[in-house]
Amino acid sequence: MSTALRTRFQAEIPAWVVAEVSAAGEVLGGLEERMALANRLARLNVRDGGGGPFAALVVERDGGRVLSAGVNRVLAANLSVAHAEVVALSLAQQRRGTWDLGARGFPATELVVNWRPCLQCCGAALWAGVSHIVIPDDSGEMERITGFDEGPVVEDWIGQFARRGIEVTRGVGLPEALAVFRDYAEWVARGHAVVYNARGTGLNV
Ligand SMILES: [Zn+2]
Repeated sequence: MSTALRTRFQAEIPAWVVAEVSAAGEVLGGLEERMALANRLARLNVRDGGGGPFAALVVERDGGRVLSAGVNRVLAANLSVAHAEVVALSLAQQRRGTWDLGARGFPATELVVNWRPCLQCCGAALWAGVSHIVIPDDSGEMERITGFDEGPVVEDWIGQFARRGIEVTRGVGLPEALAVFRDYAEWVARGHAVVYNARGTGLNV
């Protein structure tokens, strides 16, 4: 630990993420195509070891240009907030030079992520200015498979988002998302990764 107070913090995505987005073409026409890239990045992130099996994209809703890609970097960056959604939203805001991705004069944006955002990331997505969130599902299946605790997200989170002008689409890329989580669980069982937010004991209620 440093003895001096720190004045900044940062998270960085690995070069392979940029290469994967580039290989995918940087413009992704349909939701399935966008989620396929998110699932692929999540799968590769398991082997990378910098964080959990999660990836997110910020995409221009019409046209599908990828503004940013994020993967979970909690372990690599020593930042508990460095979830894929926070990384992708932050990189998109830095690229546009604005804290508001819904700012007038810019194309509408959507967040594509390989599961329902956790408690923290629901907040991050609400404040970011995206108009659409695309997920495979929002059931407890991911938590059951991986052991992650996503926090007390409100039951009516989709209604709460809708009231704030953010549409949520479920049911995109579900089989592959579940396959990535099972792969992660196997990786953990073999001792190659840790479920870092559950203190090893799961949800303590
Ligand atoms: Zn999160």
